[in-house]
Amino acid sequence: MTKVYKLNFKGKEIIATNDGLDTLQLLVSGSMEDYPPQLSMSASGDYSDRENPTEEKIWIIEDLEPGDSFEFSYLKSGVATEPVQAHKIDPFVEQCFFCGKSKDDVEVLIEGKEILTSYICNECVEKCVDVIKEEREKKKNT
Ligand SMILES: [Zn+2]
Repeated sequence: MTKVYKLNFKGKEIIATNDGLDTLQLLVSGSMEDYPPQLSMSASGDYSDRENPTEEKIWIIEDLEPGDSFEFSYLKSGVATEPVQAHKIDPFVEQCFFCGKSKDDVEVLIEGKEILTSYICNECVEKCVDVIKEEREKKKNT
């Protein structure tokens, strides 16, 4: 069933409709100190049918800063805003989920084993290794 929502965030007003997709998700992610928490809103359908995958819509992926607030409400009707995206994530395209680069843009793209269609590229892995090293150094010194 199609539902329409309104999100006010950092002076942006986003009107989103799930277009009949199964799930509309408003997600505030907490994360490690080197990565800011993010606000995202997306709608998705059933991915189990790989022949006829349902479109995923992402309206917003924004880094959150202390003091940020947002307002979320359900509307009876409205016209949807075009999705606002940090970078396009297509679940059926082989691309890094961290930086958005495709298989052709990087040396190696590693596919996740547990979660279907999840990928990370060599560049992001190298960054992760640096972050892990830094975190280990910090722990040693405390
Ligand atoms: Zn990457």
